[in-house]
Amino acid sequence: MQKTLSIIKPDGVQKKLIGTILNRFEKNGFKIVNLKYLSLTNDQAGEFYNMHKEMSFYADLVKFMTSGPCVPFVIEGENAILRVRELMGATNPSEADKGTIRADFAESIDKNIIHGSDSQESAEREILFFFG
Ligand code: UDP
Ligand code: MG
Repeated sequence: MQKTLSIIKPDGVQKKLIGTILNRFEKNGFKIVNLKYLSLTNDQAGEFYNMHKEMSFYADLVKFMTSGPCVPFVIEGENAILRVRELMGATNPSEADKGTIRADFAESIDKNIIHGSDSQESAEREILFFFG
């Protein structure tokens, strides 16, 4: 059993995809064990993505993540970290496998609907970040 942190990003909330996305995980056998609806401040978004702070897309990413409310949530299940990443699809929706959340709903690499922790270490840090 593992826990991982996912976020329905502002574009997903804007497109009224909260229910659809949570259902994807539930129908694939996962449990939602914690959830919030909130707006990130600049500082919070910058801190959450601090591993990308040298990247050219960082400023736009922070701006996007603060552009509206988002829904961070904790998913629990077998091999959850990897399986959630698989259900999300590739970062760039044009490269995401058919049937993945990003392939189905994301419009571009910078507006790609959903976040998922990429390792055990990230999952622990990110769950702590939102849920203490
Ligand atoms: N991102 C972007 N442009 C890029 C790469 C990434 O806007 O060229 C954004 C995108 O929202 C992505 C986030 O930065 O989801 C974090 O990037 P990462 O490589 O960690 O992708 P992820 O883990 O979200 O698939
Ligand atoms: Mg990542």
